[in-house]
Amino acid sequence: MAQEDVFKKLIAHCKEYGYVFPSSEIYDGLSAVYDYGQYGVELKNNIKKYWWDSMVLLHENVVGIDSAIFMHPTIWKASGHVDAFNDPLIDNKDSKKRYRADVLIEEQLAKFEDRIGKEIEKAQKRFGAAFDEQKFRETNARVLEYQQKWNELHTRFSNALNDSNLEELKQIILDYEIVCPISGTRNWTDVRQFNLMFSTEMGSTAEGALKVFLRPETAQGIFVNYLNVQKTGRMKIPFGIAQIGKAFRNEIVARQFIFRMREFEQMEMQFFVPPGTELEWFEIWKDIRMKWHRALGFGDNNYRFHEHEKLAHYANAAVDVEYRFPFGFKEVEGIHSRTDFDLSQHEKFSGKKIRYFDPEKNESYVPYVVETSIGLDRMFLQVISASFHEEEVVAANGEKDIRTVFRIPPVLAPVKLAVLPLVKKEGLPEKAREIIDNLKFDFNCQYDEKDSIGKRYRRQDAIGTPFCVTVDHQTLEDNQVTIRYRDTMEQERVPIEKVREIIAEQVSFRSLFEKLK
Ligand code: ATP
Repeated sequence: MAQEDVFKKLIAHCKEYGYVFPSSEIYDGLSAVYDYGQYGVELKNNIKKYWWDSMVLLHENVVGIDSAIFMHPTIWKASGHVDAFNDPLIDNKDSKKRYRADVLIEEQLAKFEDRIGKEIEKAQKRFGAAFDEQKFRETNARVLEYQQKWNELHTRFSNALNDSNLEELKQIILDYEIVCPISGTRNWTDVRQFNLMFSTEMGSTAEGALKVFLRPETAQGIFVNYLNVQKTGRMKIPFGIAQIGKAFRNEIVARQFIFRMREFEQMEMQFFVPPGTELEWFEIWKDIRMKWHRALGFGDNNYRFHEHEKLAHYANAAVDVEYRFPFGFKEVEGIHSRTDFDLSQHEKFSGKKIRYFDPEKNESYVPYVVETSIGLDRMFLQVISASFHEEEVVAANGEKDIRTVFRIPPVLAPVKLAVLPLVKKEGLPEKAREIIDNLKFDFNCQYDEKDSIGKRYRRQDAIGTPFCVTVDHQTLEDNQVTIRYRDTMEQERVPIEKVREIIAEQVSFRSLFEKLK
């Protein structure tokens, strides 16, 4: 099945099974805004815990805060967002659709990458085990031609971005004959800058109202609290401050489900270091963060680092962690060396000293910052894309059937176990309830007695519940139940008192954290 169709199915599945709903649906929705349903919120909370604990529990020099969404408007002047938090936009005059000029060009680059990938795939099949990818890339005429085209476009694109040359961005779109996917035409407007911040007014009287912004990133809440945390926590550099919270961006194009939203959540950590050591720390955090992603077991080849074409105004190094979504490799997380830009700007605009007195060097300085910034919703999309499977299974009567299963890692799964009485009478429901009453203090459990046992298993597969515990007549005599495992569909008979131990081991955050060492 084409990846696009898989993605559509995934979106439909998320709605049908209570993971993600379009916002304000009964009013026909609100573009690029989504609500998380009963299972979605549990998965989201588990991802948050994975991130938060891996930062704050596992690093004794990282602490957390929770700052407000509204902040003094001068903060956004100081940070550069009022003047420079822009995306280049372009409209197609025929379809009246709006695009990000940089994204249109990135998609053209991805087309060249795809063509190279296809040549490699073909050759791999032809040469089998003897295939040497490196050599093939260096010698195959077609690959070299596509690579050359990629290099030319990439150089022009980077230069145009770095010079903020909007005419050149448009010229690239014309030269590469990039068409609007809706109208199929090249009838483009000029490229313009568009500021992504939402604003509103604070205060009740018209004269007294203050224009405030909805924060477009959580990082500034950390910078303006740097001194508070450093002093009250008696923190010694190097140290980090972590935060999870909402961010808002008036994105020009909001497609691809929860990949690009106008209201989303970020998990950010700012790590304060002595000047001159930031690039070392940048490498260390790159490594830590890649391990964190890979520990979930979605396949090491599905991740890569991507260097930025253009460094943001505050950065001296930046890299994205990209995951292979059904629509290609895309950014999930940014790791940026932000220099002393933000703290120095806040010193300048607030007139307050924001320094660190280093007792070892006996001097004070403005710390440098390395940040790791991951979108919670994009991480959610990573988990569900990696976990969504449709597979052919053969039923007991020999008939073939399709099973839809969410293979969410058990530690992140919203519901850990379902307890199912074989029939809804003869004391089995009471026994099942008894088991839940005991296990609900440890795990998110679900009780289900409706429909045949086979249907109930499928329902739990679709939700992503890793364990089903079935209570039958025999259970009343021997206090044993059947555990059915989601991924293998294997069944095992175990004493009731062992159920907690079996499940606890597989849903433990501790085992996941041990992989991060
Ligand atoms: P993009 O290039 O995709 O617009 P960005 O480079 O502007 O992203 P950052 O400013 O580095 O993103 O933000 C850090 C992280 O926040 C991103 O890696 C992404 O996971 C998440 N993020 C940013 N914008 C959005 C959005 N509109 N919807 C959901 N997540 C987002």
